[in-house]
Amino acid sequence: PVDRSEEIQTARLGLPVVGEEQKIMEAIYNNSVIVIWGATGSGKTTQLPQFLFEAGFGNPDSPNPGLIGVTQPRRVAAVSMANRVSQELGQYSDKVSYQIRFETTVSKKTAIKFMTDGILLREIADDFALRKYSVLIIDEAHERSVNTDILIGMVSRIVDLRKSMSEEDPSVKPLKVVIMSATLRISDFTDNASLFREGPPPLVQAEGRQYPVTVHFSRRTQRDYVEEAFRKVSRGHRKLPAGGMLVFLTGQNEIRLLSKKLKQAFKPTQRADTTQAKVEISANDAPLEAEDLELGGMEMDNAGDEDDDLEITGLDEPEDDDGFDLGEDAMDSSTRVHVLPLYSQLPTKEQMKVFEPAPENSRLIILATNVAETSLTIPGIKYVFDCGRSKEKQYDLSTGVQNFQIGWISKASASQRAGRAGRTGPGHCYRLYSSAVYEADFADYTDPEILRTPIEGVVLQMKSMGLHNVINFPFPTPPSRQGLAKAEKLLKYLGALTGSGQVTQIGRRLSTYPLSPRFGKMLYIGHQHGCMPYVIALVAALAVGDLFVAENQLPGNEAPAPQSRKPDSDSDSSDCEDRKVYTNADRLEDTQREQRAKDYARVHRLLSKHDDTSDALKYLSAICAYAYAADGDAFSEQMFLRAKAFKEASQLRHQLSDIVRSNNPGLLGAYSAKLPEPSPKQLKALKQIVTAGFIDNVAIRADLAPVPPEIPRAPRRAIDVPYLTLFRSRERHAEDIAERAVFVHPTSVLAKLTPKEMPPYIVYSHLQQSAAAPVAGYTPKIRM
Ligand code: ADP
Ligand code: MG
Repeated sequence: PVDRSEEIQTARLGLPVVGEEQKIMEAIYNNSVIVIWGATGSGKTTQLPQFLFEAGFGNPDSPNPGLIGVTQPRRVAAVSMANRVSQELGQYSDKVSYQIRFETTVSKKTAIKFMTDGILLREIADDFALRKYSVLIIDEAHERSVNTDILIGMVSRIVDLRKSMSEEDPSVKPLKVVIMSATLRISDFTDNASLFREGPPPLVQAEGRQYPVTVHFSRRTQRDYVEEAFRKVSRGHRKLPAGGMLVFLTGQNEIRLLSKKLKQAFKPTQRADTTQAKVEISANDAPLEAEDLELGGMEMDNAGDEDDDLEITGLDEPEDDDGFDLGEDAMDSSTRVHVLPLYSQLPTKEQMKVFEPAPENSRLIILATNVAETSLTIPGIKYVFDCGRSKEKQYDLSTGVQNFQIGWISKASASQRAGRAGRTGPGHCYRLYSSAVYEADFADYTDPEILRTPIEGVVLQMKSMGLHNVINFPFPTPPSRQGLAKAEKLLKYLGALTGSGQVTQIGRRLSTYPLSPRFGKMLYIGHQHGCMPYVIALVAALAVGDLFVAENQLPGNEAPAPQSRKPDSDSDSSDCEDRKVYTNADRLEDTQREQRAKDYARVHRLLSKHDDTSDALKYLSAICAYAYAADGDAFSEQMFLRAKAFKEASQLRHQLSDIVRSNNPGLLGAYSAKLPEPSPKQLKALKQIVTAGFIDNVAIRADLAPVPPEIPRAPRRAIDVPYLTLFRSRERHAEDIAERAVFVHPTSVLAKLTPKEMPPYIVYSHLQQSAAAPVAGYTPKIRM
């Protein structure tokens, strides 16, 4: 029996899931697949693996010797849940491990393995029967990430396969599957006839949230929700009893801004960095999590795109009845604030800091994106502030345009967010929006990601696993026919599929790379002119993406924008501590800012010295230069690079080299990160290779088109020069050229050219439209 500490023992007894242990285990013994629904905090993630472990799963001497695998949609969840379960398992704490990209603690002793769903997907490609597992727990299925959806489809087939294997060979055991969801939107799994052939899996419910959470709506909904969050959190900090705060915002810029404001308004804690030890694993053994790659660019901002950046200030709300009067004493007014950010692009080590206890006599305030919405339990959080919005990647299947829309979350998400306040005790959730808006504008659930994302990688991976008829794959929610058709078309352009949709030799090769087939194609042809080492570096850089700190994201540059910081500025509408008095310190800051702007420009000129018309080659220069740096972090700082992105890109580079080497014996020598400068011939070849991967993403300068459209006035800036895409990307027949054409993004090197210098053709990685400004009749430009 497991020897648990008294404290853990008591905590477990209070969990609804623990009360259902017997029912759950019976359901698992009697069925291959079961679905567990339990509200956030009911104990699913921490307890299920322990039930299975105590029943002998994962024990080499038991009838079910295979591992207990638990998938999570996010890395930080995989790591932190593994830690918690390990803690709860007393003398068996060394039985719990995790594996995330580039990092694992798995050993011979491991019985319970937490991992991201991307890791398990790659393992399926290696062994379709997943023989090393006896049971799989697919957690957070309600999040409906593409990876989770595909895993569920795959696993439904693997269960059948393992059953027939075990009938032939009794040493192979059948596979058990537990799908867990925090919301009841599970009919896509339970009522989907193509998914589980045994019939719909039984649903086991563990009802009851652990602690009550009181929800407070605002009376009005402010447009400037960051400012509103600042106001509410400040007041809350003054008026509310002790307890941690968790604030939901949509992105890292907002988080940085609010963090700065809070630290200015209150006394922040100072604490030295504490670094945790971890095991690094060789890039070779590290599968990629598709999710991570696609996150590249997520935080991409509309730097300098002033016309897309309308600002509308909200009305003032009377401060009565804000729900802060809880009839208990507020904290001492000298209480410091311990403000920590939490978003996916933050290094995992930094993210893990939110789990450490806050210093004495301070209030923990975590500013988070969606990352904190499910799975995590952050000890001590008693108050949640929810802005009600999130930044979601939207993808228009017919045009291929991506945008990062800030929009209302769903009711299901809102309740997940509120639930964060009731994990370790009763709590309160302050919604920065009115109940009227909630009722009228919030959808019940968020659309599954598979309906919102390009799926060529998924299609190719399936086809090369022998699942030819992708349309018949048991998706929980099938992608649209249009999306599938688009994916197949691209795969044909890349030579990965034949005209009739069969995988080609090339296609098989492309599928061995844990990357979009576009990048696979670049690697496939990368051997020309000895370019391979460069192509690998370039692909790694492009795949990770978002390598540079945008100029407006440099610390101190966030907001207000430099121009509104003039001494006579009265545009600052905030009514609190932030009132501007122009001081000597400000003047000094301005000089430093100017100096830094110069440095920034110099660095970017340096990085584009090979070719001032190619962002791809700029990426290549950056990753190659990084490889020469003695201290990567210091170099990143000095060069305005995003250190985390470069670390990932460098690891990916190493990993890709290993794959290329095993695909093409003899082609690559020993890995060396430090490459000599590419020759002019190689630079030219590299541009052609990039084009091959993005062959369908070509645009022609509008005035050079076969039938040039009418261009009313000559563009003054490079970013106003219209281009037409090869394939339809917008309404072809729109009257206004601004609505038919696409334009370069202001962060591109091309934005520095004069309109006359703009090249006749541009190959772009993707089209992007910034968040639509809330103004009728105004459509933001689509940018390459
Ligand atoms: P679920 O997966 O159903 O949302 P979990 O199993 O993650 O629930 O957590 C159940 C409960 O266990 C939480 O509500 C909390 O009380 C406790 N718990 C989980 N992780 C921790 C932790 N790191 N520290 C303290 N308590 C925790
Ligand atoms: Mg959970």
